[in-house]
Amino acid sequence: METVRLNWPRYRDGVKHIEADTLSEFKPVTDRQEVVPYELAKLKQPLALDFINADTKEKRIAFLSHRGFLGLPHEKEDGGALRVQYFKEWQEIIRDLLIGTTSDDPKVAVETLDQALEKPRFKLSIDYSAENDSLKTFHEATTLYHFMVLECVAAGVRRAHLGRCSHCSNYFLTGHTTGHRADKELCSPRCKTAAHRQRKRDAEKGN
Ligand SMILES: [Zn+2]
Repeated sequence: METVRLNWPRYRDGVKHIEADTLSEFKPVTDRQEVVPYELAKLKQPLALDFINADTKEKRIAFLSHRGFLGLPHEKEDGGALRVQYFKEWQEIIRDLLIGTTSDDPKVAVETLDQALEKPRFKLSIDYSAENDSLKTFHEATTLYHFMVLECVAAGVRRAHLGRCSHCSNYFLTGHTTGHRADKELCSPRCKTAAHRQRKRDAEKGN
């Protein structure tokens, strides 16, 4: 798979949550933006995982502040805001996509990969390296959302496995292309410690 890149704006002063009547949405605090470059190389910490693991208001605000908005048409229609309800719907789509592309059943994986690449939102771009006077092609994603779709594709193509933390239910990828062992059960050192303490407490209770 080609290298995938994205240059994506985020709001320098962060994102806030607004609750008004029936509308619940995330909005940038100010208009000040800065552009952050991304490159899909290793699958150690994909944005798609941060995205689907953002299951609280605070985590969603953190995701949007840190990574920017998704870049989907309805954000424009809503004046640069993202409705909480849409955030959740797109999370479900990315989660299901990742479950499909990383399926142990190759048939399901290939079918889902085909679907994901049906309407690609990236273009082939070219890079010049002065160092060795060479040209190299790469894919440039057009939005943050489509960059995450391509991460799901990369996870599938590299036959990564989607696991879930037995302590906090966060999703993570395992397998030799991800830097995480296949028998991993817990998402982070923090959950390892917490699970260890829990087991100890349970054992004490049992005595
Ligand atoms: Zn965890």
